[in-house]
This record gives sequence, structure tokens and C-alpha cells, in this order.
Amino acid sequence: MAVPKRRQSKSRQKLRRGATQWKAPKLKTCSSCGAAVPSHIACPSCGYYGDRQVLDVDAAG
Ligand SMILES: [Zn+2]
Repeated sequence: MAVPKRRQSKSRQKLRRGATQWKAPKLKTCSSCGAAVPSHIACPSCGYYGDRQVLDVDAAG
């Protein structure tokens, strides 16, 4: 069975573990209403994705 020649340094170990760490989703501003929305998600406040309406949003809400 193959055995590693050297022990991995602490910084390499931390780099590997940091790569799988959970990160908060990146927020962008909606182009039509200006709300902070995660990227690749239709805007929940105005229902726009890109330049077209994809969700039915109540006018009151
Ligand atoms: Zn919007």
C-alpha cells in the first residue's frame, strides 16, 4: 500500500479544509429594483431574473 513520503504541512492542511468550507452566498444588486439578491436567483421582491419577469409577485407585498 502506498504511504505518503512526507507529512503535510499545517498550511497545506488548512488550505485543503478551507476549500470545502461553507461560504455565504454572493449577493448582487437587482438590476430592476436594486435589492440585494444572491446571484443566479430570481429577485424575490420584483420577480425579475436578468431583464425579464419570471415570478409572479404581489403588488401589495
Ligand atoms: Zn428586483
